[in-house]
Amino acid sequence: MKAVVFHAVGDIRLEEVPDPVLKDPTDAIVRLTSSAICGTDLHFVRGTFAGFVAGQILGHEGVGIVEGVGAQVRNIKVGRRVVIPSTVGCGNCQFCARELYAQCDNANPAGKLAGTVFYGGPEATGNLPGFQAQKARVLWADVNLVPVPDGITDDQAILVSDILTTAWFGTELAEVGEGDDVLVFGCGPVGQLAIACAKLRGARVIAVDRLADRLEVARRQGADVIDFDAEKVPEAVLRLTNGDGASKVIDLVGVDAMVPQRGPGVPDRAERKEIDRERKAATPDAHQQGDHWVAGDNPTQVLSWSVECVAKAGTIAIVGVYPPTIDAYPIGAAINKNLTIRMGVCNHRRYVDEMFELILAGRLDPSTIITQDEPITDVIAAYEAFDERRQGWMKVELEPAE
Ligand SMILES: [Zn+2]
Repeated sequence: MKAVVFHAVGDIRLEEVPDPVLKDPTDAIVRLTSSAICGTDLHFVRGTFAGFVAGQILGHEGVGIVEGVGAQVRNIKVGRRVVIPSTVGCGNCQFCARELYAQCDNANPAGKLAGTVFYGGPEATGNLPGFQAQKARVLWADVNLVPVPDGITDDQAILVSDILTTAWFGTELAEVGEGDDVLVFGCGPVGQLAIACAKLRGARVIAVDRLADRLEVARRQGADVIDFDAEKVPEAVLRLTNGDGASKVIDLVGVDAMVPQRGPGVPDRAERKEIDRERKAATPDAHQQGDHWVAGDNPTQVLSWSVECVAKAGTIAIVGVYPPTIDAYPIGAAINKNLTIRMGVCNHRRYVDEMFELILAGRLDPSTIITQDEPITDVIAAYEAFDERRQGWMKVELEPAE
């Protein structure tokens, strides 16, 4: 089969690889009809997150048709159309029993304290082959495959795999409700869906980014927008909230705050590579510290802004990804405001059915954020365009079938 294979930082290739096979009696094999490129994949290609094994297949968003099941799979039959949630849970441990799949005791071969397992990730996350491929092996298929109802398209279902469920998770963590002023950091695909979810829950939304096309999409969804290159974020938020600050804040940026943008004085792709090479030579372990691309960007910028912008006794949800090496938080300012701070990796499986219900009821259509629909044969060019944040490239769906 064809698959997108990681060779080294900056080097991914579309290659012919062996088809996956059933290994455990609880496995299933899925022939993928839809996959996607996620901002998280860019971290791996760029090397922001280390520990990616050469030969790993990328991708953690998948929809397809079940082609084979192990002897112990009871709930899922061959021929079913399914979505695969990005994170893996065993379904039986104390955490899976509470639907905290991202904290499963059994999924990570390195042990129960080793962290979340997801498909197409670095070694520390289980090294399971990903979904930018024509077929995939799914573990504990009874738990980790969810039948897609008739009436839900592949375009809609593929977003339930990760980014819509993650956006919803953000609004759950922040306990967004009627009458809240919700501040959303990051207007990428997850940010846009978080805006939609927050509005669905009856909130007013203020959205922060610096890219004009993304801010425009947020504005069209009815958010008040702040361009952080043009305005001081805390001042703008206070002005928009009658001096109170936002009652709820959702950080969907994470370490992405480090990545430089287009614009006057900002280095282009070739210049970034050169700067990166020089910095790596000067500080050999810079990569492992998540210290990437260009000096002057602040990886904890959104953490500080969140505490500054939230209202007294408000809630902050951190869903954007931070590497384990980042250990700074404005704890003093936070405690003085009596804040609630919640965070974590989405327990995707938990929210899949709820998302299907909202889509079927016509209350949410995540597929509106898909801007590109590419055959897998064009995947490398699609990665390049997505990596450059080329204007208009919000979310790339991949079609694995030839
Ligand atoms: Zn488990």
